[in-house]
Amino acid sequence: MAMGAADVIVFLTDVIEGVTATDEAVAQRLRRTDKPILLAVNKVDNDNRELAAAEFFGLGLNDTAFISAYHNYGVYDLLERIVELLPRRELEWTPPMELSLSIVGRTNVGKSMLTNAIIGEERSIVSPVAGTTRDALDTAVSYRDHEITLVDTAGIRRPGQVQRGIEKYSVLRAVNAVHRSDITLLITDATELATAQDAHIAGLSWDTNRGLIVVVNKWDLVNRNRFRMERVLHRVRERLHFMRYVPVCFTSALTGEGIEEMLDTALSLWQERQKRVPYRDLQYLLADAVSTHTPPSQRGNIRNRLRIRRVRQVAVNPPTFVFSVNDPKLLHFSYQRYLENQIRDRFGFDRTHLRLIFRPER
Ligand code: GDP
Repeated sequence: MAMGAADVIVFLTDVIEGVTATDEAVAQRLRRTDKPILLAVNKVDNDNRELAAAEFFGLGLNDTAFISAYHNYGVYDLLERIVELLPRRELEWTPPMELSLSIVGRTNVGKSMLTNAIIGEERSIVSPVAGTTRDALDTAVSYRDHEITLVDTAGIRRPGQVQRGIEKYSVLRAVNAVHRSDITLLITDATELATAQDAHIAGLSWDTNRGLIVVVNKWDLVNRNRFRMERVLHRVRERLHFMRYVPVCFTSALTGEGIEEMLDTALSLWQERQKRVPYRDLQYLLADAVSTHTPPSQRGNIRNRLRIRRVRQVAVNPPTFVFSVNDPKLLHFSYQRYLENQIRDRFGFDRTHLRLIFRPER
């Protein structure tokens, strides 16, 4: 029954016992199925036992692995082999249709107006969804078949409402909003670009691996032309230099200009953050990358060369890649950057933060 239900069969034997009559019988049975079979000879802890394990080739099963479950030797390779033999069901991965956005920024940059514009868009590009809010503080809107939760909209001022007292940049509030959202829209004012506090919030979003979009609002107030836009982009990137890939949007909450584009940018950033790269494609990329540009050896000693065995994507949102290497200390920053660029170019990650982790192989 187990054989019938399995995609791959691992036949586990014991080198100390040697080939038993039962092993022979099972092997005979296994040879009749057309399922992929892996023979794993366990307890192969030393060279002598490895020699003894050769006896198991006599069972006539082609795919054989010598392992030691106790010492965790060969187990990983066995696992990889199992994965290779699994039927290639195309991983149909549809990203979730819900995402949460926080809108943060200094006082007076236009957060309230922008939020109101999103919630009450007259051209009905968005419509409030009644009774679906996750939290009384939040507002749910639907946009292009996505359900977007605008985080912490409780505090926004209604149009015409006068603001009393001097409200500071509510950093604490912004910090909470960033933590509760998938993507942060950091609103800045076209007439007064990214300040130190903006950089602080941006850094927080980055450090906690959230999505980030910089929005330059009040774009109607500046004399717009291409040159100006490029200069603004330059200024923003200069301020947030560690985030090379942050999308920048230009909006006017007053005229509604750019708001649709901003929301579309949020959706495409979201999709990018949900992207999964097939395992095999990653190994090809790694092989290409390493053969084009071998990791440099440290201090001219060939032994001190970084060796990368494999790379896996272990998570989305943000896409996270784990490289199994001989010694993470041998990784040079520039080589890490090179690998990151390869992944970006090959698989089309243009806007999101990627996480690359280097672990010693086991
Ligand atoms: P908040 O403190 O960030 O929520 O900012 P508000 O939404 O209250 O906006 C502050 C002021 O800027 C208000 O007087 C708005 O009318 C004005 N404002 C907001 N967005 C725009 C915009 O895109 N263009 C122009 N010209 N004024 C804007």
